[in-house]
Amino acid sequence: MKKIAIAIHGGAGTLVKGMMTPEKENLYKAALESALQKGYWLLKSGVSAIEAVEASVKILEDSHLFNAGKGSVFTSEGKHEMDASIMDGKTLNAGAVSLVSGIKNPISLARDVMEKSEHVFLAAKGAMQFAKKLHYHLENEDYFYDELRYQQWQEIRGTEGFKLDHSGNKDSKFGTVGAVACDSLGNVAAGTSTGGMTNKQFGRVGDSPMIGAGNYANNKTCAVSCTGSGEYFIRGVIAYDLSCLMEYKNLSLQDAAEEVIQNRLLRIGGDGGLIAVDALGNIAMPFNTEGMYRACKTSDGTEEISIYKN
Ligand code: ASP
Repeated sequence: MKKIAIAIHGGAGTLVKGMMTPEKENLYKAALESALQKGYWLLKSGVSAIEAVEASVKILEDSHLFNAGKGSVFTSEGKHEMDASIMDGKTLNAGAVSLVSGIKNPISLARDVMEKSEHVFLAAKGAMQFAKKLHYHLENEDYFYDELRYQQWQEIRGTEGFKLDHSGNKDSKFGTVGAVACDSLGNVAAGTSTGGMTNKQFGRVGDSPMIGAGNYANNKTCAVSCTGSGEYFIRGVIAYDLSCLMEYKNLSLQDAAEEVIQNRLLRIGGDGGLIAVDALGNIAMPFNTEGMYRACKTSDGTEEISIYKN
């Protein structure tokens, strides 16, 4: 059996260290731990990377702590519009949804787009129609209500501004969630899910559902899930750029990941981070922000759950 590996994230941001209480920190770490262990256990019992990735992301989506699924941020209209994507590095199949509402687990809808439609990306009404066809249950607005998210929205409501749910002075909430995995056959997969950015304009789509920008997987190179200011990840085609640096320039996973986050993304003004795994089970988790909720586990004994720079 080859080395198995999984990494997950719960968003990157400019968290002020003093704002995080030990209690809060424990809550976040416990949520990360349960998503990590679930994915790892699945990999260990022989399931595919794609299966493990979906399962881990679902756990993070079900937690109000993260900006995805249940904990999604408010749009400028006081709604929740979610984006997600998933990609299988073995087949290069991918599925994505954007601007969906009421869906408890957008990552599963993205996977359904991949497996049950002829398309890769369904948005807004079309994605909702597809969900309806598959008999998805729709949660009402209350399910997605979170007091802290509401307050974050109030701070910039009515302005043209929009921001990462975790940027700034007051709050310690980080965002977007994602998972990448390498299974016992050496297949990799990536999944990313988000509520986007607080006070985002109606119809705004970030990098998370865009294959190549916020999410990418290819057995030849690696699987990547990004988090941060989506506009910059789109312009830098960050996830695919990482894969290209490995494929065309023979960079190691770690070097390629550091290059895109610490040099290329910063150069165009973007902040954030990513998690990545290659087909040998190596893991990289760079970020250029103050912190990134992250965790990883491999069959050769690596295990980490962290928030700040080590
Ligand atoms: N990348 C996400 C977006 O721009 C936000 C985040 O990672 O927190 O939609």
